Amino acid sequence: MLDQNEFLHPDKECLTREQIDALQVERLQATIRHCMNSPFYKKKFEEMGIKPEDIKTPADVRKLPFTTKQDLRDNYPFGLASVPLDKCVRLHSSSGTTGNPTVVLHSQKDLDEWANAVARCLWMVGLRPNDVFQNSSGYGMFTGGLGFQYGAERLGMLTVPAAAGNTLRQIKFITDFGTTAIHAVPSYLTRIKEVMDQQGIDPRKDTKLKVLAIGAEPHSEEQRKRIENMFGVKAYNSFGMSEMCGPGVAFECKEQNGLHFWEDYYIVEIVDPETLEPVPDGEIGELILTTINREAMPLIRYRTRDLTRVLGRTCPCGRNHIRLDRMKGRSDDMMVLRGVNIFPIQIEKILMKFKELSTNYLITLTTDNDNDNMTVEVEVNDFDLNDKDKVQQLTKEVTRALKDEILLTPHVKLLPLGTLPQAEGKAVRVKDFRKVYQ
Ligand code: ADP
Ligand code: ZN
Repeated sequence: MLDQNEFLHPDKECLTREQIDALQVERLQATIRHCMNSPFYKKKFEEMGIKPEDIKTPADVRKLPFTTKQDLRDNYPFGLASVPLDKCVRLHSSSGTTGNPTVVLHSQKDLDEWANAVARCLWMVGLRPNDVFQNSSGYGMFTGGLGFQYGAERLGMLTVPAAAGNTLRQIKFITDFGTTAIHAVPSYLTRIKEVMDQQGIDPRKDTKLKVLAIGAEPHSEEQRKRIENMFGVKAYNSFGMSEMCGPGVAFECKEQNGLHFWEDYYIVEIVDPETLEPVPDGEIGELILTTINREAMPLIRYRTRDLTRVLGRTCPCGRNHIRLDRMKGRSDDMMVLRGVNIFPIQIEKILMKFKELSTNYLITLTTDNDNDNMTVEVEVNDFDLNDKDKVQQLTKEVTRALKDEILLTPHVKLLPLGTLPQAEGKAVRVKDFRKVYQ
């Protein structure tokens, strides 16, 4: 018998597969009807002759057109809205490096539902109203700020909008306010721990921390374990994306066996990025999300470009919301070096196996004499860089392990702790100087 106190929304979290399917059909039909208010979707649906009644099972979502980031850019700023602007109360915009940025609009109902989704995630990993939640992620347009703020408040926790940066002050907040949970990008949490070490603060003895929420950027299972060992508490993977709302799209439960995507909010598909046909469970493909509970700007079959796979559709925690593997990266993160496809996360996974290495690393790609080369710089932990023999030995071992994984031999450079640039937001893991030559 499941303990109902483990669930914030038992009526939604404990649905059977048949109930999820029925709810998705009902909500997708309503979404199609609602999207007819958006000139963008009205035109597409009319051209394709799509009617809400065409949806009889969740798989019928495949009858609908895809939406891409380019569509958001082309219709910048408000072209995809399905409600008049006076019904919208907030927008978030992501900085486009090329062309127009993208804009996502929210009605009051959207903000309420978003806060509910984040609260549900945090409740799932054991947080309760008597917890103190410190949000050490960027605020402003970055949805990890306000998204977690409203969600943690909705749950009823004392919420500290610490934002990212000013690490000494972060640590003071953690100790003074009795912070029990922190949300931050993984790379910033490791920075907080470095500074704690310098200050002689032991998170196990000197803080009340019990839960970490890490996400917004790809990270390996190995890095998660590192972070858990650093702080002596569990670190749960949090997945989100501005286009869907922000954080709260998916979160790990206490089983830590994949990300539960909330299927009362989204229809999840995994497709082959080339053919756009569905791939079988267990196979890696591109994540496609359809919002079925949004008012201001629903998105149909949004191509996230994130690569992942289905792990399961049931879970010992009692939730039947689909479980997906941690993101392998975005299709555009993939590096092609001398014809070999490599994801930064593959390099991270290997580096994290060496206890002498820290979690700060940078991959640089260059073209030298017409050859593409990869340099992997990584900071060391507790390791004597003056001992030339040991440096040579470790460099050799790391190079060999990387070669076994990526089939190419990178140049490995060991650096003292604190040498590489530190991001407070999402970490920059790859610098590709080859683009100059293309
Ligand atoms: P931007 O698109 O500017 O990076 P977002 O905050 O919307 O801004 O980023 C969403 C993207 O971040 C996702 O599509 C995914 O690539 C990445 N992401 C978010 N959470 C995770 C996570 N837990 N693991 C891996 N990648 C993540
Ligand atoms: Zn679960």
